[in-house]
Amino acid sequence: MISYPVFLSLGSNLGNRAGTLRQAIDLLAQVCTIKNQSSVYETAAWGNPNQPNYLNQVVEVTTSQSPAEFLQTLHVIENQLGRTRSGKWEARVIDIDILYFANQIINSPELTVPHPYLTERKFVLIPLVEISPQLRHPVVQKKNEELLRVCSDPSVVKRITD
Ligand code: ADP
Ligand code: MG
Repeated sequence: MISYPVFLSLGSNLGNRAGTLRQAIDLLAQVCTIKNQSSVYETAAWGNPNQPNYLNQVVEVTTSQSPAEFLQTLHVIENQLGRTRSGKWEARVIDIDILYFANQIINSPELTVPHPYLTERKFVLIPLVEISPQLRHPVVQKKNEELLRVCSDPSVVKRITD
């Protein structure tokens, strides 16, 4: 069976944020293979300043599911952790986004891969570069470390765990 390398961005800014990230990784480990995980970072909420700070982490997994199936799997995990879907950019217990799915380029109504905001957000790029500096973005054709170097996001992203 073919298994694809996938990079996920995990974020939490409600409740026990660090505990939720750990639970998300435990639940992921039941449905795919965890290959690597970044440190945990803290960042002010992006696009909506009146919110608690986020904890963010990037996790590399492998899966034999298709992108659409895997997105459903991630939604199940978000729901298990108590995610309710309210407005865009609302505070959330957990958000799990697909950054890269192998080197695939996907533009369907449900899924845009690579993730469209990856190149603009240091809270994604900094943990991504920590675990995969040399991986090349299949659209922009730059390595993650190059994407970070040219990213103009002024946010402060603070590493809080190893
Ligand atoms: P956001 O992550 O944009 O803050 P949500 O987590 O509520 O918001 O996701 C909304 C929708 O975004 C999901 O239902 C999913 O269909 C879609 N989506 C598009 N591309 C991606 C991606 N790369 N990873 C995760 N979800 C995505
Ligand atoms: Mg999401």
